[in-house]
Amino acid sequence: MGESDYLADPMADSSRVLVLNSGSSSLKFALLDPHSGEQYLSGIGEALGGPEPLLTWKSPGQKHSRQLDSGAAHGVVIDLLVRDLLAGSQPAAGNLIAVGHRVVHGGEQFAHSVVIDQKVIDAIAECAALAPLHNPPGLLGIHAAINAFPEIPQVAVFDTAFHQTLPRHAYLYALPYALYRDQRIRRYGMHGSSHRFVCERAAELLRKPLRELNIISAHLGNGASVTAVRNGQSVDTSMGLTPMEGLVMGTRCGDIDPGLLLHLGDALGFSLEKISSLLNRESGLLGISQLSNDCRELESAAADGHEGAKLALEIFCYRLAKYIAAYTVPLQRVDAVVFTGGIGENSIFVREQVLHQLRHLGFHVDAKHNESIRFGAEGRITAADSAVALVIPTNEEWVIARDAAALVRPGE
Ligand code: ADP
Repeated sequence: MGESDYLADPMADSSRVLVLNSGSSSLKFALLDPHSGEQYLSGIGEALGGPEPLLTWKSPGQKHSRQLDSGAAHGVVIDLLVRDLLAGSQPAAGNLIAVGHRVVHGGEQFAHSVVIDQKVIDAIAECAALAPLHNPPGLLGIHAAINAFPEIPQVAVFDTAFHQTLPRHAYLYALPYALYRDQRIRRYGMHGSSHRFVCERAAELLRKPLRELNIISAHLGNGASVTAVRNGQSVDTSMGLTPMEGLVMGTRCGDIDPGLLLHLGDALGFSLEKISSLLNRESGLLGISQLSNDCRELESAAADGHEGAKLALEIFCYRLAKYIAAYTVPLQRVDAVVFTGGIGENSIFVREQVLHQLRHLGFHVDAKHNESIRFGAEGRITAADSAVALVIPTNEEWVIARDAAALVRPGE
């Protein structure tokens, strides 16, 4: 089966978008209906470029996996997608109208999703200086998809785009201004597609237009960030130039004293490489607990009395509550706090702890709702007379598919 078999059929009534999310050694993919969000195929190629790359995928009702040849990279996964997986998903895959790519960093050049052309590719490559770990693999995915689907429009959806509405007093660091003017060093924020998705869904649940709502959304996965959304626009967010700033994360430290870096280098003789590994991969929940970066595991260890696990969760919740309270400054009125991401969607403990620390702002958890809203469920977890806190499962693939469809088929 060749690429032309996937070209859009103008007679078909349901379009599909292939969403690609390329990491340095992984490629996640999903084929979905941009209107309903229904997924027909999803999977991940992992350990790409290494000795034992593995492809796992699922189609409705079925799970599969395949060991790939040593050294197989992003292009091989996309070739397999075209030749085998999409073919196996017919007729669902028949009406592919776009490929949507998650791109982590769009710098100041992209405040919205765009159809990819050479100029866009060059701009993404330029932004790679700001996201050296993330943008180059994104480009690998884009090039591989253009090769595989030369006639299908490719769309880039940026993690940073939603935060381009931050005012300058929120995005500038108190550093010499020339660093911003000449090097574009500033806060950009991440997880934009997720924050946008849950805010749009919150507006539906609250039955009000998003432009009339003030929301604080907390995306709590392995990476974690919190965003203040005023009248539907991001006005502050906890991640900065890189995804290390802000909350405590699985293995990242979040906010620290920048003087600490000097101390590690000067007084302790740590190399930049060692500092980077320490702050990115050995800190956060893992570093504090000395046990795990996984919230679920920490909760169960804490329940068994593990002191490190208790401490890690305590610091995680405190930092998050402090950020949420801080965001009452730009918002003044908060219509809802939204929890999402693996921890936000599932952790009864974290939600309860955080909202308890925000009781002075009028948050009172409804224990029964908090316990029942998990595993993909959505809804309100605070009492009827309390300020509103919602749990909304995120769906970044759907945001990407929707944006791609809106750009290539406007008005549909
Ligand atoms: P990623 O950022 O990699 O996409 P996820 O959004 O899947 O990560 O979130 C992963 C986190 O969610 C892990 O810390 C995991 O322990 C946590 N998590 C998942 N299920 C639960 C649960 N039932 N209770 C508490 N934490 C959970």
